[in-house]
Amino acid sequence: DFSTANALIERHARRVPDFPQPGVEFIDLTPVLADSEAFDCVIDALGGEWSGIDLVAGLDARGFLLGAAVAMHLNTGVLAIRKSGKLPPPVFSRTYQLEYGEATLEIPAEGVELAGRRVLVVDDVLATGGTVAAAVELLEEAGAEVAGISVVLEVPGLGGRDKLVGHNVRCLSAG
Ligand code: AMP
Repeated sequence: DFSTANALIERHARRVPDFPQPGVEFIDLTPVLADSEAFDCVIDALGGEWSGIDLVAGLDARGFLLGAAVAMHLNTGVLAIRKSGKLPPPVFSRTYQLEYGEATLEIPAEGVELAGRRVLVVDDVLATGGTVAAAVELLEEAGAEVAGISVVLEVPGLGGRDKLVGHNVRCLSAG
């Protein structure tokens, strides 16, 4: 359940000061995913309580690990939301601001039916929210309905939720 997931994340997450740059505390969830009990519990909590999901979308790259497992849990297919240049054309593409510089995410514009489908977006960490917001915009541009957003951990104080107003956001752990 939710509180067990929270405790296991707290126990296993590794906090690394000054990475990737001075002043940033990087929260590494690698040990959470590598622990069978924590992984199982996190996937359960990310995928639970949503209803009517017909596709899970995982964000490049750690969201791939989580998204595929959540999709199995919910008996849906999985969609990888890729960084630019990885998918063959045609694609929907969205460029967004990072703290330093910018990044581009892409999804296929052919081959995967997205119109009218209820999609659950999954990622590891919600920080400024720019990445998840770009993913949401991409899916909506393709005609999908973003039914929910599940992330393992939210870094408080960066305004991530403000970019996702009007969406159902589930975070298993804050900070
Ligand atoms: P953002 O677009 O700012 O919400 O950043 C989200 C992406 O950056 C996520 O996919 C995270 O993997 C990564 N990220 C940002 N900040 C951190 C942090 N403090 N610790 C770990 N990962 C982070």
